[in-house]
Amino acid sequence: MPATPPLNSDYERRPYWHAGMPALPDRSGKGLPDTADAVVIGGGYTGVAAGRKLASSGARVVVLEANTLGWGASTRNGGIAHPGYKWGPESLAKRHGRELAMRLFADSVEATEFLGRTIRENGIDADARWNGYAELAWSRADAEHFTREAPLRTEWGTPSRAVPLLLSPRRNSPQSSPFPARCRCVARHSANSCSPSAAAISDAPSNAAT
Ligand SMILES: Cc1cc2nc3c(=O)[nH]c(=O)nc-3n(C[C@H](O)[C@H](O)[C@H](O)COP(=O)(O)OP(=O)(O)OC[C@H]3O[C@@H](n4cnc5c(N)ncnc54)[C@H](O)[C@@H]3O)c2cc1C
Repeated sequence: MPATPPLNSDYERRPYWHAGMPALPDRSGKGLPDTADAVVIGGGYTGVAAGRKLASSGARVVVLEANTLGWGASTRNGGIAHPGYKWGPESLAKRHGRELAMRLFADSVEATEFLGRTIRENGIDADARWNGYAELAWSRADAEHFTREAPLRTEWGTPSRAVPLLLSPRRNSPQSSPFPARCRCVARHSANSCSPSAAAISDAPSNAAT
């Protein structure tokens, strides 16, 4: 067997999102204004969003992008958006204290709602579906944690509940044992299958230069 298995025959060397979005206008070589109120370097989500915000308040903004708009991670991601961090509310509170943890969590809820508003209010064709999400527990401790944390997640702005599931042990695995798992379901506040590339690019400032 070769050290590196061959790629599937239908493998395409381009980001998934590029397959379903219109071709981007070629802005390379575009002349730059002599002056600007703000120059943003990098035309991913961060740069385009910053440029948009500044331009909407009347500033003359130039966005400089080394490749094409959305070249970096912004057109290579999974397209999933939901509040929260790597750490859940309990761990966040342990790390930063309850007050700061609540504010951090609230920021992440607002960020997800901001994404939704931006898509809706600008008529961006991102195929976004706001359908909540489910997380599977991978251990007994994780399952118990889901149950304990669901009310806190709900209180902090993401209505959640733990759903009991009974999993069978994996075959041929001496370590595994059946455990009452939990599936954490978080209602609302989550988009998937949205096309970040289209969302980021279609509303790009017209004076973006690449
Ligand atoms: C594989 C993968 C999957 C991911 N999945 C998810 C997900 O499902 N959900 C989620 O929320 N996040 C996800 N992320 C993270 C998310 O995509 C990034 O956090 C986000 O795109 C970062 O945006 P950005 O604008 O800061 O950076 P980028 O999108 O990387 O944009 C930076 C831009 O700056 C340009 N640039 C850099 N240097 C210069 C320079 N000197 N001059 C001019 N231009 C320059 C680059 O060409 C690039 O276009 C994922 C990331 C990856 C890589």
